[in-house]
Amino acid sequence: MEFLKQIERKWQKKWEEVRIFETIPDPNKPKFFITVAYPYPNSPQHIGHGRTYTLADVHARYMRMRGYNVLLPMAFHYTGTPVLAMSKRLAANDEDLIDTFVRIYKVPKKLLKSFYDPLNMARYFHEEIKAGMKEIGYSIDWRREFTTIDPQYNRFIEWQFEKLRQNGYVSQGSHPVGWCPNEGNPVGQHDTQDDVEPEIEEFTLIKFQYNEWILPTATLRPETIFGVTNIWLNPKVEYVKAKVDNEQWIVSKESVEKLRYLNRKVEVVETFNGSQLIGKHVKNPATNQEILILPAEFVDPKNATGVVMSVPGHAPYDYVALENLSKAEVQLKEFGLTPEIVVAIEPISIIAVSEYGEIPAGDVVKKMGIVSQLDPKLEDATKEVYRHEFHTGKMKPNTGKYAGLTVAEAKDKVKEDLVEEDRAETMYELMNKPVFCRCGTECIVKIFEDQWFIDYRKPEWKKLTHEWLDKMRIFPEELRAEFNYVIDWLHEKACARKSGMGTRLPWDPEWIIESLSDSVIYMAYYTIVRRLKEHNIRPDQLTDAVFDYVFLGIGKVNEVAERAGLEPSVLEQMREEFSYFYPLDSRHSGRDLVPNHLTFMIFNHIAIFPEELWPRQIAVNGSVLMEGQKMSKSYGNIIPLREAIEMFGADPLRLAVLATAELLQDADFSPTLAKSMQGRLERLYRFAVETTKMKASETAEAPVLTTTDRWMLSRLQYHIGRATESMDKLAVRKAIHSGLYELEQDFQWYLRRIAEERESLKKKAATVEVFSEVLDAQVRMLAPVTPHICEEIWEKMGREDFVSLAAWPKPDESKVDVSAEENEALIRNMLEDTLNIFKATSITPKKICYYTAASWKWKGYLKALEKSVSAKIVQSELMRELMKDADMKKVSKHVAKFVDQIIDEVNRMPNEKKRRQLKVGIMDENNALKEAETFFKREFNAEICVYNEEDPDCYDPRKRAQLARPYRPAIYVE
Ligand SMILES: [Zn+2]
Repeated sequence: MEFLKQIERKWQKKWEEVRIFETIPDPNKPKFFITVAYPYPNSPQHIGHGRTYTLADVHARYMRMRGYNVLLPMAFHYTGTPVLAMSKRLAANDEDLIDTFVRIYKVPKKLLKSFYDPLNMARYFHEEIKAGMKEIGYSIDWRREFTTIDPQYNRFIEWQFEKLRQNGYVSQGSHPVGWCPNEGNPVGQHDTQDDVEPEIEEFTLIKFQYNEWILPTATLRPETIFGVTNIWLNPKVEYVKAKVDNEQWIVSKESVEKLRYLNRKVEVVETFNGSQLIGKHVKNPATNQEILILPAEFVDPKNATGVVMSVPGHAPYDYVALENLSKAEVQLKEFGLTPEIVVAIEPISIIAVSEYGEIPAGDVVKKMGIVSQLDPKLEDATKEVYRHEFHTGKMKPNTGKYAGLTVAEAKDKVKEDLVEEDRAETMYELMNKPVFCRCGTECIVKIFEDQWFIDYRKPEWKKLTHEWLDKMRIFPEELRAEFNYVIDWLHEKACARKSGMGTRLPWDPEWIIESLSDSVIYMAYYTIVRRLKEHNIRPDQLTDAVFDYVFLGIGKVNEVAERAGLEPSVLEQMREEFSYFYPLDSRHSGRDLVPNHLTFMIFNHIAIFPEELWPRQIAVNGSVLMEGQKMSKSYGNIIPLREAIEMFGADPLRLAVLATAELLQDADFSPTLAKSMQGRLERLYRFAVETTKMKASETAEAPVLTTTDRWMLSRLQYHIGRATESMDKLAVRKAIHSGLYELEQDFQWYLRRIAEERESLKKKAATVEVFSEVLDAQVRMLAPVTPHICEEIWEKMGREDFVSLAAWPKPDESKVDVSAEENEALIRNMLEDTLNIFKATSITPKKICYYTAASWKWKGYLKALEKSVSAKIVQSELMRELMKDADMKKVSKHVAKFVDQIIDEVNRMPNEKKRRQLKVGIMDENNALKEAETFFKREFNAEICVYNEEDPDCYDPRKRAQLARPYRPAIYVE
């Protein structure tokens, strides 16, 4: 372990000294520009982050070895609430957080106070994260590092927003947003605990009349108004009578604040218990029917108005609640009601749907065996009924002018009409509540008035984004549908807030641009930031005209430069560097950024840049589990990245997070796994040392390769091909399996086969050649994943450059040797078959005889293969064909028996295998087995005899020889 650490430090130092990852434009090389979502410096990175960044680094290193001029930069996202909220919670003495900082993140206690200033916290973790990225060996060009509060970056974001506004993508208006009442800010996914996106839904509030009061029942299915049998209020919670705008409403006490955030004027007149209204009658505004108010505890006062209409025919909750209530005699008595009154309320059927009978809610409830209104299965039941009714349901004749409409049509129409006639209103509510802000406050919906939005609803913009997505590579491909869904679903997004660090809106500076809006085109900034630093360019020199020139090629360089007080050559350098590296070739992130950042990135590139500069590829990976469990502070199983590097080493850690899962799967990390990776890498190193020593004492003799040597080299080409194919698809797990595990398995077999001969002088040169070729290819294949140990081995091999800059191996077609592979397969099969005989008979063998097939059998077998490639063969036809041959005719009786033995097997054999065997032709099995004699002798500790079944002096006491078939020599053991 200490040894691995030394190697890591050595090579990280060398990379830095020789600056091998600092990238500049090279017109003679194709470029590959790859970025990962920059981190929020509000905590150290842990193993989960390690996976995303390591994957990007592996991708970068692979492309570099494939001959690309690769740029992998990094920056830090100071802006937005993630840093700010953490700092505020510390300042508020949040004990949980303090504990996490001190115990898990190992932050010195005396520093905590300074973190009350978010900038200090960001700077601290910035350095912490950067140190981790260096210690794990990422191939980053650190000259391009920046933070999102650098004044030059602020200018860049101002330019971005000016562009968006000029092109009509920014609007001012009133829209519902997720909101933190404590901080007075809109909240998006990056502002909430557990990173939940607040989902907003519009309820219809239908105004039922109770004397001069209105009971606004909240529903997502206004079309069911015709099936309402009663109203539900929760008898155990408080309601209020209140003046809402110009009307008198009865709503839950909890809804008052929410209505106010939705811009309604609410004056509470009286607070009372819900039980007081139970048993009273209200009027249905659609049917004018008088119905009862009944008690129901499932009514959540926090959901919309806390007043609910009951549609037992189509709503499973209502169906079960009515059933429950009809049996609750004691409870009913409290309200002066009786079970008979409730039993008399019959569900009304208003929608015809083929999947159910008259009363869909009743059918589903019975099917799922639901008996209590508190049963969580009611959620599924509700969804199921809704799904069927929405897709195939038709409104029945008892729904007036809506009769015959589909449910989908009626839903919108009824709502529209009721609102039009002032018999209903709408109310926004969070569907996935409770959602908590990072500050700990529960989020609500607010109508955000006269605020700034990026208008992701624009149809033309959506269309372009869809079309571009179709052209992008998405890894894994299965996520494409999710992107399409997000593009459709996105609407106006609040893009500014009043507090925190960040860039001010250039035209309305009391607003600060939020963090999912100031991080969508920054990849472009990486291409020029190096020059900004080099020439000490001030923010005021970065005029909009400068950015227009650099990024869009607008304007005359001399004029733009002169006005900005810059040298024209500096502008030209920046333009050149941007033009060289853009567009972005690959964007990496975790899956949580699909519904926001990654999609915003596509949208914004389309809004600002010409088509040839839009991003080419997105790669998304799943998360990391810790021994099967989600990593979380509450499980106490978070290992900060630097600690993990210290514990397991950089290379074993990189291997452990990538070797167990394909892109989208969750990787399951465990300390045991990481330790076993250490063991593997140490074995690799020992093999390397042995190989390089052999080479040193190599004889001058030219190598003569045996079949087994040729087999090993042939397999090596296969593994190289597989690893390359996998890496091209970012299937890193598969690539590791080819380049490490499977190659090693073959190599172990090779060692077992040549064990005896290895020391013989004649063999040595060939062995050295095979060992060296395997090692050379393996080191190259593993270099992207475990770069440190590979550099060390590379050096041991006497190479003077870096393996990080060496070429990825290419399969050498001239070394693919099908007959060597078939030969080796034969030996392996004979080994297994013989061992199976030992097992079955439990004898200790003294002598083993192998009988290979007669030459006429080979002829017949190959003919059968040839015929069966195009179509299934029939016994009689094959016989007729074979009898044309004079040699065959002589043994015709045996031929018939032989054909009978092989025909099924040949018909079942995959065509690829047939083609391989046809390519090999008649194999000299006798020779192959004789060559392996020493090997078998050693494996079985017995005398080995090899005969052809037609040998006149064949020792065959049990008449086994006649059973021999091509690729299936017969065996006799005594
Ligand atoms: Zn908050």
